[in-house]
Amino acid sequence: MNDEGFGPGNLPYGVDDEGHVLVAWRDEVLDLVHAEGLDVGRDVWASGSLNAFFDLGPAAWATTRSQLRAVAARQPARARRRRAGVRLVRPFDVGDVADFYASREHATNMATMLRPGQDPLPEAWLHLPIGYHGRAGTVIVSGCDVARPAGVLRAGEVGPTSRLDVEVEIGFVVGTTVPRGRSVSAAEADRHIFGVVLVNDWSARDIQSFEYRPLGPFLGKSFATSVSPWVVPLAALDPWRVPGPRQDPAPVGYLRQPEPRGLDVRLRLEVNGTPLSTVSSAGLYWSAAQQLAHLTANGAGVRAGDLFASGTISGAERGSEGSLMELTGNGAQPVVLADGSRRSWVADGDTVTIRGWCEPRGGAPGLSLGEVSSTVVPCGGEVLCR
Ligand code: MN
Repeated sequence: MNDEGFGPGNLPYGVDDEGHVLVAWRDEVLDLVHAEGLDVGRDVWASGSLNAFFDLGPAAWATTRSQLRAVAARQPARARRRRAGVRLVRPFDVGDVADFYASREHATNMATMLRPGQDPLPEAWLHLPIGYHGRAGTVIVSGCDVARPAGVLRAGEVGPTSRLDVEVEIGFVVGTTVPRGRSVSAAEADRHIFGVVLVNDWSARDIQSFEYRPLGPFLGKSFATSVSPWVVPLAALDPWRVPGPRQDPAPVGYLRQPEPRGLDVRLRLEVNGTPLSTVSSAGLYWSAAQQLAHLTANGAGVRAGDLFASGTISGAERGSEGSLMELTGNGAQPVVLADGSRRSWVADGDTVTIRGWCEPRGGAPGLSLGEVSSTVVPCGGEVLCR
């Protein structure tokens, strides 16, 4: 599916190390600075990030998408390069970051391990999408290393985390600002979302568990968040709209959204090439539009380039857990990699990859979201982007 996954139904945007906006096209990329047949000017495509394109708004996104479909196959040689040799950078200037907790199966798995015998869902969980505000400066693109973080692991003990974990997530990139003082409802929030990236929300479970009460995640989650380099337009995912899980109790007014509110994106977690789990985002209880509506409900607004992520996505079956913490029962039952080694948590030198794709559906061929991959270096080690 590799070439076909980047066919005319996809057309995801990225940015190369010269600051040119690219579109993935089969096994090539189109450099939009040199492309022909587009209304949007070269200054936008040479601006070093997608934000200038976001600012043009949904009508320009739609026009550009239909123009690309028409002209992608007949671009001049200077606008085309092999995709394999391209160096991609973080594709947009990340504004504010939020991370949700929208997978009921993940929330239940975590509570069962951490608070056995108690109600697995916090009181508010079924009434609003629970989330926290994250850190934009540590959002890194796939290919950049992650250094093992240090922190206070337990009372009186500082050191490198010994419980380094990953979280399989899908992220949504805001394309259209909601001004401060305004809000959008879930019924209208999709218009403000430009596209989707894969997210690995790195987590240091020992630092996290000591620090998080009562204000939530802080240093245990803020050291790195890896994103995939290709931003898949939300419009490309229309064939994979699916009804979301039934919501009972019915959401409050601003969280009400017509079906189909879900997205069936498949995600696979690999460590050093060994597949450990596969899950679909179709099971997320709270949709992207509901998450965005919630982010703006207090009038805080959002800006183009803001990133919000679903939270760890886990399914109900074994082999669909979106974190090592769930896969290993909080470290008690290590997973076995292809080389025979065992992991309760991520080891130095490990490469963690999340791949994303959509299966062929309703006459639409499959679509690829590419991958997000990072290698862990020892605490204090030099971090490179490869
Ligand atoms: Mn997360």
